[in-house]
Amino acid sequence: MGYFKCEDFTCHSVGVFEGKYRFFQQQNLLTISRINVCKRVSFIKHSFVEEKTIFEKIISRDIPADIVFENDIAVVIRDINPQAPVHVLIIPKKRIDRIEMAQDGDAELLGKLLIMAKDFARSYNLTGFRLVVNNGQQAGETVPHLHIHLLSGRSMAWPPG
Ligand code: AMP
Repeated sequence: MGYFKCEDFTCHSVGVFEGKYRFFQQQNLLTISRINVCKRVSFIKHSFVEEKTIFEKIISRDIPADIVFENDIAVVIRDINPQAPVHVLIIPKKRIDRIEMAQDGDAELLGKLLIMAKDFARSYNLTGFRLVVNNGQQAGETVPHLHIHLLSGRSMAWPPG
């Protein structure tokens, strides 16, 4: 038995699996189905192991990072590979893999993250800044743990590359 997370476009279920069967909650109903009903079976098989993301390891202090701010819902760290003179990441302690996985119940958390970004910019007197959320590999996402990039300190082009 193990945990799985399906990223099949129409599925997005999370739950447990045993043998060929998976058990998950959908619209408040406990649903049981065969794993192979999803198109991305191989993805399911490879993604059910809930590995801690690098950001979860930073939050739990398993690995070091330059943490510039922390509260009960999020940490703000300096990006290890800055793309601007100021480049920090606002990372919720709750793991949401990416914005497309957010639920209605995450609305308050997501709003607070934006407020944190604005407060950070104000406390560092940043007048011009850009907030970025990459969703999916094609958009440049490399860490599957939702985060907001805050970039500032240089002129920026539009459209972004
Ligand atoms: P994204 O590509 O949108 O998923 O953003 C992930 C960001 O995390 C990248 O800008 C990386 O440079 C940054 N990053 C990865 N590992 C670390 C780390 N250990 N400490 C700080 N930033 C990191």
